[in-house]
Amino acid sequence: MFTIGCHLSIAKGFAAAARDAGSIGANTFQFFTRNPRGGKAKPLDPADLEAFSEKRAQLGIERILAHAPYTLNPASSKLETRDFARQTLASDLERMEQIMPGQLYNMHPGAHVGQGADAAIEMIADALNAVLAPEQTTVLLLETMAGKGSEVGRTFEEIAAIIERIELDEHVGVCLDTCHIWDGGYDIVADLDGVLDRFDSIIGLNRLRAIHLNDSKNPCAAHKDRHEKLGEGCIGLEALVAVVNHPALEDLPFYLETPHNDLAGYANEIAVLKEARNDVQ
Ligand code: FE
Ligand code: FE
Ligand code: ZN
Repeated sequence: MFTIGCHLSIAKGFAAAARDAGSIGANTFQFFTRNPRGGKAKPLDPADLEAFSEKRAQLGIERILAHAPYTLNPASSKLETRDFARQTLASDLERMEQIMPGQLYNMHPGAHVGQGADAAIEMIADALNAVLAPEQTTVLLLETMAGKGSEVGRTFEEIAAIIERIELDEHVGVCLDTCHIWDGGYDIVADLDGVLDRFDSIIGLNRLRAIHLNDSKNPCAAHKDRHEKLGEGCIGLEALVAVVNHPALEDLPFYLETPHNDLAGYANEIAVLKEARNDVQ
């Protein structure tokens, strides 16, 4: 089955987001748990969550992906910033159990801000060890990054080094962003198989739980992180179609984070992908 969706707003609630997903041909979606710049989350509304559950059953939505605020930095040199990241992660993971158990929660690993990647890897792992709970049903995903500024997680080795240090590692996986790994220097246009082989030998493909499907405004290894609409960037539609049809990836959920898109724009990209997908008639 092709599990495909995009980033959607939950400003009008979860049931409304599910309705939006259905209206554009999506059977999954990603959302920010709270303002992407951080701050307080809106209290959960039990009536909305009940309506959400009904909508999901109606529309066949079996998978959702939450995204942490991208300003969180568990590897900050400032204690209060590290504490804020821990509190937000813990609170988001608790909320996920109420929104929909058994789902995915994605975060950017962090930035070392001059302290070096090794120190950052330790701090990120410490934060995750503090917030992961044995009884949680949510899988926390570390997103592969473009390597902009002092971002940690540009290389598969850095992601693997974080996971190695996590005690409850059965609750941890990886979200692969096609724009980010391309910008990070992994050439998925010339050698997708080779990149996935490297992912498998360094992290393990069994850790891979979601794909962010984006084109990139910049050439491979640019370390920029500027997303582009599918087929309008340097990766190109052919390589992105190869990603959704790859036997090692085809069962994963795919999420568009393509820029300047309204619902009609996303609907169009989803239609293009369904057309190109081997198992959709
Ligand atoms: Fe992200
Ligand atoms: Fe992403
Ligand atoms: Zn990005």
